[in-house]
Amino acid sequence: MTEIMASGVRGFYRGSDIIDERRIDPAYGAVDAYELMAPIIDTDKAMHWLMNLVESKGAHFVTETITRDLVDLEDSLRARFDADVIVNCTGLQGEVLAGDDTVYPIRGGLIRVINDGTDFPKVDAALTITADAAGSANEIVFLVPRNDNILLIGGIAEPHEWELNLTLDSPIIRRMRERCEKFLPGLKYARVDPDYPFAQGLRPFRGKNVRVERELRRTGSRIVHSYGQGGAGWSLSFGCAQDVAMLVEEALSGVPARPMAEMTNDWKIPKTERRRW
Ligand SMILES: Cc1cc2nc3c(=O)[nH]c(=O)nc-3n(C[C@H](O)[C@H](O)[C@H](O)COP(=O)(O)OP(=O)(O)OC[C@H]3O[C@@H](n4cnc5c(N)ncnc54)[C@H](O)[C@@H]3O)c2cc1C
Repeated sequence: MTEIMASGVRGFYRGSDIIDERRIDPAYGAVDAYELMAPIIDTDKAMHWLMNLVESKGAHFVTETITRDLVDLEDSLRARFDADVIVNCTGLQGEVLAGDDTVYPIRGGLIRVINDGTDFPKVDAALTITADAAGSANEIVFLVPRNDNILLIGGIAEPHEWELNLTLDSPIIRRMRERCEKFLPGLKYARVDPDYPFAQGLRPFRGKNVRVERELRRTGSRIVHSYGQGGAGWSLSFGCAQDVAMLVEEALSGVPARPMAEMTNDWKIPKTERRRW
């Protein structure tokens, strides 16, 4: 917390009065709190915006499943699509397309309730507690208001669960709701969104870390990988895209590919200077 305060993050405030102000149940046991300003991305809207942006720049979308390692298909795919470079962002399918057997999912689920102020006082700030305080890193309190009168109730993290078969009645989802109701009692009166009550998905993790790296198994390859962003894909997207662009430029100019681990210092070069080489 000292680091956050010192970093000059906008709107930082620490005080136990936040607990009352945000209507947290005093019986929950919270003794300290802090708040700060942070952007929230409405991902449904952002995906449309991104698709339009890419299309407006001349992209042509083709939907097709690739079932083999890209190293084997590189020449044929590049010839077929007249492509200078292939950028692989296939998440968990990195296992097949990049021969990476360290990718794995962490399943998550969110209940969507109506947050228009009629059933409970409108929640207008994201609320969470640290994993330490929650007593579990995998079952926490995670409440995020969306722009459109929806409150997301979470959260869970289930490593190595591949099936998207959770429902509102699954024990872990019932526990999630009960936990959040204990934290913020107003949620006992919450109505689920009838059109879209429950969202679930697989966060695409990877053994070591995110992989933003050129293909190393084939000399002269023009494949650039970007996958394994796990549960921070939106947050990391800006930086990863910038690094992918740099690696694409490298591949096009014939610079030999290097392992990501050797490039740590390059990532620190300011963007404006990176383009010089
Ligand atoms: C529960 C949950 C919570 C999250 N919380 C956060 C958060 O707090 N902050 C944050 O920033 N992000 C969050 N995220 C977002 C998450 O980080 C992103 O969903 C993730 O990073 C997306 O990764 P991706 O684009 O690599 O993979 P995907 O979204 O899986 O995209 C892969 C793409 O590759 C395509 N593809 C896959 N296989 C093939 C194939 N064989 N052939 C052709 N195409 C293929 C797919 O069709 C898809 O378009 C959350 C996600 C979930 C599920």
